[in-house]
Amino acid sequence: MAKFEYAPAPESRAVVDLAPSYGLFINGEFTESQGGSAFKTVNPATEEVLSEVTDASAADVDRAVAAARRAYNGAWGRMSGADRGKYLFRIARILQERAREFAVLETLDNGKPIKESRDVDVPLAAAHFFYHAGWADKLEYAGLGTNPRAHGVVGQVIPWNFPLLMLAWKIAPALATGNTVVLKPAETTPLTALLFADVVQQADLPPGVVNIVTGAGATGQAIVDHPDIDKLAFTGSTGVGKMIARSIAGTRKKATLELGGKAANIIFEDAAIDQAVEGIVNGIFFNQGHVCCAGSRLLVQENIAADVERRLKRRLETLRVGDPLDKNTDVGAINSKAQLSRITELTDAGEAEGAERWDNGCELPAKGFWFRPTVFTGVSQTHRIAQEEIFGPVLSVLTFRTPQEAVAKANNTPYGLSAGVWTEKGSRILWMADQLRAGVVWANTFNKFDPTSPFGGYKESGYGREGGRHGLSAYVTTESNG
Ligand code: NAP
Ligand code: MG
Repeated sequence: MAKFEYAPAPESRAVVDLAPSYGLFINGEFTESQGGSAFKTVNPATEEVLSEVTDASAADVDRAVAAARRAYNGAWGRMSGADRGKYLFRIARILQERAREFAVLETLDNGKPIKESRDVDVPLAAAHFFYHAGWADKLEYAGLGTNPRAHGVVGQVIPWNFPLLMLAWKIAPALATGNTVVLKPAETTPLTALLFADVVQQADLPPGVVNIVTGAGATGQAIVDHPDIDKLAFTGSTGVGKMIARSIAGTRKKATLELGGKAANIIFEDAAIDQAVEGIVNGIFFNQGHVCCAGSRLLVQENIAADVERRLKRRLETLRVGDPLDKNTDVGAINSKAQLSRITELTDAGEAEGAERWDNGCELPAKGFWFRPTVFTGVSQTHRIAQEEIFGPVLSVLTFRTPQEAVAKANNTPYGLSAGVWTEKGSRILWMADQLRAGVVWANTFNKFDPTSPFGGYKESGYGREGGRHGLSAYVTTESNG
């Protein structure tokens, strides 16, 4: 097949101004750690050290929570919803104004392609602030219950796959409802959260309303365990989510947990195959497959399986893997060495258990962390690659004969975050959506996100919703829900 050759089209990184090291953002300013240490954050596409950030200590977390409490008891707690909304609008507009800076920095620190950080992560992050800004003065009319009130101080811990976007999912609803925040970004992707601290200053948010503490798991644990946290919002792995649920059991802390997934993307024989192939590619190769709701299990009706497989592989041979800052890149770097080892371990297990492995054979850069877009066929339900979250550019293909069988296989995992259904038949879409135990079901599309739409899981994918009115309800108490 003819392949187009592209000249390099790198985005300039001159727009990003990186400091050699960063402190913690507490009470409206950058401060030194008390008793913490430092660690380096690298560009996973080159292994270049980008900057040094603080590994916050429990004492630092305590200072951040105290600042958040003072802000809550002070100006922020007394502010009208309309005035809070003005700050959220301001933040949203600044994110748009500084979009290129955020996109380039996100790509440098995370390894995702610039076309995704530019066209997805940053615009959606701004959209979350715009959406929630609109709710700030209308909470009484949001159908949440009588007299909705903030919880107080919210602790938030987020993962590395959508660093700025997950920050927006967390901070926008918390502020719209009048809470104050202590947030910890992931260890490997702290830089856009630190740049967001700059936006908070630029927007003139009162000190202490948003506090950003960088660090590793122990810093997250210190937030979870802090006695003056009223509510926790966590996005990350099911393993850490379970630990968090155990450590807050018996306390008054409220929590929402957005955890892992192993979504089925289900293709029926009557689907528009070429569109479905695009949906499969978007479902699992978007963001290197580092997506909690990724369509990592392809369930394809048996009589079209060979055709879908052939077209899919042909399409994957055209994917461009490489420099994330290049505007033509489709698949960027794996976020960390640790994640690359996990993907390698699980794909080796797939081969050892008897599934057939294929990859697109593309060249990979010599430095950095990379993995070729990979497809496993002949996968059975008991294989680890059909049960465990790989969180990488790896698709497991299974087949089915009847809709009932598709549902049984799709639901046969401990997770239940999302699913996709491809068929021309409207009644089948509705029936499938009803049968699938998944928080989000996409029909003839995949990986569509919108701040107005609630997102969250069933079973071990967690509890609580983010986005829409459902997401707001997690950040308030009302007279009817206590
Ligand atoms: P992770 O290891 O659970 O880490 C998530 C966050 O928790 C990070 O900031 C991490 O810090 C921190 N953390 C680690 N141990 C902790 C502890 N004992 N107490 C408190 N915090 C702790 O997950 P990940 O590998 O970064 O992210 C991938 C996972 O997130 C996948 O399973 C994915 O499905 C899930 N995810 C879910 C959603 C959703 O909406 N459902 C969205 C995105 C991702 P460090 O960075 O230092 O480890
Ligand atoms: Mg990094």
